[in-house]
Amino acid sequence: MKKILFVSSEVHPLIKTGGLADVAGSLPLSLAQLGQDIRILLPNYGAIKYTQEVHKKCTLYVDNRTVHILETQLPDSDVIVWLLDYHEFFGDEGNPYTDKDGNPWANSAERFALFSRIAVEISQNRADLNWQADIVHCNDWQSGLVPALLSLEPVRPATVFTIHNMAYQGVYSKDIFQSLNLPGELWNHNLIEFYGNMSFIKGGIACADHITTVSPNYALEIQTPEFGYGLDNLLQHRHNDLHGIINGIDLEQWSPENDTRIPQAYSVDNLAKKSINKTALQKHFSLPEDESISVIGLISRLVDQKGINLVIACLESMVNYPMQFVLLGSGDKDLEHRLTNLSYLHPDQISIKIGYDEDLAHLIEAGSDFFLMPSLFEPCGLNQLFSQRYGTLPIVRHTGGLADTVVDTLPETITDHTATGFVFNEPSVGALLETIKRALLIYANAKVWKQLQKNAMKKDFSWEKSAKDYIALYNC
Ligand code: ADP
Repeated sequence: MKKILFVSSEVHPLIKTGGLADVAGSLPLSLAQLGQDIRILLPNYGAIKYTQEVHKKCTLYVDNRTVHILETQLPDSDVIVWLLDYHEFFGDEGNPYTDKDGNPWANSAERFALFSRIAVEISQNRADLNWQADIVHCNDWQSGLVPALLSLEPVRPATVFTIHNMAYQGVYSKDIFQSLNLPGELWNHNLIEFYGNMSFIKGGIACADHITTVSPNYALEIQTPEFGYGLDNLLQHRHNDLHGIINGIDLEQWSPENDTRIPQAYSVDNLAKKSINKTALQKHFSLPEDESISVIGLISRLVDQKGINLVIACLESMVNYPMQFVLLGSGDKDLEHRLTNLSYLHPDQISIKIGYDEDLAHLIEAGSDFFLMPSLFEPCGLNQLFSQRYGTLPIVRHTGGLADTVVDTLPETITDHTATGFVFNEPSVGALLETIKRALLIYANAKVWKQLQKNAMKKDFSWEKSAKDYIALYNC
């Protein structure tokens, strides 16, 4: 049994902007079930939704600041969450990275430097919590300074750094580095210095004992210039310590047979009931309620990474096919406008909801026939996993974790019952349209379609296997 401090800037259901929160809210539960003593560290954001009791545990003085540590639990579990309470940085409305108008916080570097420093104090048992970590498991750039700071300590726990997305690196100027009062030794190109700037993520990659990322394919991709963003050489250098461990999903939340957020639960044995959710979805999105027409769903942050420009370029042609398209997402204002305009032009086939809505996300997973994920890159991706559980077949680009988790429908994969979706390579309008056409043809063949849904729904996306892979690393 190891004592693990799991450091994350978002944790579902307390606060979420994307997949990191899903992982941080479900992997620790699985690790606890496998006998590990795990504590999560998260900033106490103004926007957190508490469901459990919260109480103060201790006070620390770090970098001339007085910081409190509060304690709560992950809902319906014994997993302890420690909240870094520092109102001046984290008390305002907004999400972990942007204010309520979507502008990045001006003091992000200061916020996450403090977060990292507190993680170090706790993991070194200097925080009056009477708990000595064996392992500090950090996630993404927001905790990248933790392995770097710990590397300066003579005695320290082992460190694991997980990359959920290489595209976000936490790069700041030398002036900002100087204003953070960090140890001067860190300004070294073998540590956090990155072409004259400081890089939080580099601290994690250069200094952690083990590096992981969220799919085996992405672990290979980030060692190339296209996906490595200037850190591919360092990742190649560290390839013996770099592991791709695929994310699992929280089956308590994402199982059609006991999902209380959808109008009609269903399972692989009564798939016909799925259509009740489809009609509810069409109604919710003000589309004609027609069971026979295929519905393609998409839920995403609206950013370049997710291939939204490609979707926009295809939609004018997609409306010539017998299909309806529903999208839930928010992000880039220009993408939001262009999508909304298309829905005004084709109100019977395209419907768009701008916003963040977890209940609606469940309805889209349950009610759609297809789920579209044409990402330009995708470290793991969770929606294609949820979709398969819900018998909603994913249409994905062959990249990152999408390539690892969706089996394309081909004559041989139909025959051996491994096909679970539709995969294309080129990020081009032609390739995406061709694949959608191919998917719609299969949809028209009820017998094959049902078999594909069953193949997808029976796949094991539980955390157990991956959690065991993490434990094997902790024990190295
Ligand atoms: P990323 O972390 O890059 O955003 P992932 O596929 O790993 O992508 O995880 C995204 C998570 O966020 C999924 O759980 C997805 O359902 C959820 N999500 C994204 N956008 C929304 C939204 N607008 N409303 C509700 N959930 C969303």
